[in-house]
Amino acid sequence: MKRISIVFSVLLFLLTPAKAQDKLATSTGDVLIRFVGHASLYLEHKGRVIHIDPWSRVANYDTLPDADLILLTHQHRDHLDTIALNAITKSETYMIMAPVCLEHFKPATPFELISNNQKTRWHDIEIESVAAYNIAHMRPNGQPYHPKGEGNGYIINIGEKRIYVAGDTENIPEMEKLGKIDIAFLPVNLPFTMSPEMLADAVRKVKPAIVYPYHYGQTNLEEVQRLIKEVSQAEIRIR
Ligand code: ZN
Ligand code: ZN
Repeated sequence: MKRISIVFSVLLFLLTPAKAQDKLATSTGDVLIRFVGHASLYLEHKGRVIHIDPWSRVANYDTLPDADLILLTHQHRDHLDTIALNAITKSETYMIMAPVCLEHFKPATPFELISNNQKTRWHDIEIESVAAYNIAHMRPNGQPYHPKGEGNGYIINIGEKRIYVAGDTENIPEMEKLGKIDIAFLPVNLPFTMSPEMLADAVRKVKPAIVYPYHYGQTNLEEVQRLIKEVSQAEIRIR
């Protein structure tokens, strides 16, 4: 029995796909996009590494590259995790985060707080913060899981390409005014973010060339893909 389970484990290991790595060509060089899991991903560009919402539950961050820049969307544990942050922070790591994050974590390295609808520049990359909040889904006490104005989504401008990482949000009206989006990471899981129907509406609003549904938990991803295809020509990447 034990031998069978060992064989099974080895087989499972061999069949598990390697961490997703996608490439985006830009006017300032390629961007490697590595989806880690849940809401965690990192980008590599010109030898620099940008981590977004690293969470130690989805990866051993000791084994991932250190961060040159870290973006945090909001303070929830699956987005602001000190174990992952400590594992990837080096002396020159820079952090950009929503002000609410500072109530939970004081970075030891230089950082910047930005609220919704602000822009900042890091090297040759422009980072825009955009709204991320719930309209429909509330906690039992009537408060939204994500109140308007608290957390950020980010648009990362690299060369002429715009990568939108939405954070924890629903299909808010602001999504229609983001401008051209090449790649969008959009969350789908209830009750904290969007239903598959809401995600499809978000894709319709954002009009990305490529969409990565993320933060999907146990969501039915076949349904997600079917609903997106009804309203959008976007390439759908499930990673
Ligand atoms: Zn959250
Ligand atoms: Zn979350």
